[in-house]
Parts: sequence; structure tokens; C-alpha cells
Amino acid sequence: MCEMKVIKKIKRQMELERQRCQSCGMPLCYDPKGGGSEKDGRRNPDYCSFCYEDGAFKDPELTLGQMQQRARELLRKRNQPWYIRAYMAHRITTLKRWRSN
Ligand SMILES: [Zn+2]
Repeated sequence: MCEMKVIKKIKRQMELERQRCQSCGMPLCYDPKGGGSEKDGRRNPDYCSFCYEDGAFKDPELTLGQMQQRARELLRKRNQPWYIRAYMAHRITTLKRWRSN
């Protein structure tokens, strides 16, 4: 395949993945609903539909540590190597929901 095409593809994927859920870190392009929702039905583009629905977090008691644990388990199920798991666990600490903690 033409090299330029490959680079374009990768760039587009990066664009898509830039917008991540600010709670769990999942790229919103993988969210079937395309984002969280507010009480009045508007989209909330900061969070995914698994974390945020009807104007509130689905799991408001969740701690940063628990979220990291969830991400680790999910990645382990997908057979991701340890360094990806460590990277994602770190990435979660940089998301908007957890930054103030
Ligand atoms: Zn999420």
C-alpha cells in the first residue's frame, strides 16, 4: 500500500481517538451512543454513555483507583501487554474527572 495512504489512515485514527471519555479514557468513537447525555437529552461530549447518563455519573462513588483497576482488567481480557495496561492506568489520572483529586 502507498505509504502516504497509511500515514493518512493513522492520522485519522488519532483524530478520532483524541476525543476520549474524561472519566474512563475510552475513545468516544467506540461509544455506540457517541457520548454521555444530559437530563434534557443533549449530548455531553466529555464523557461516554457508559459513564455519564441523564446528567449524572452512573457510578458517582467510583474512585480513581477503582477506575484504574477496571481499565486494567478490561485490557487484560483483551490480552494487552503490561506496558499498555500501565500506560492506560496512568492516562486515566490525567482525565478531567480525576484531575482535581
Ligand atoms: Zn467513560
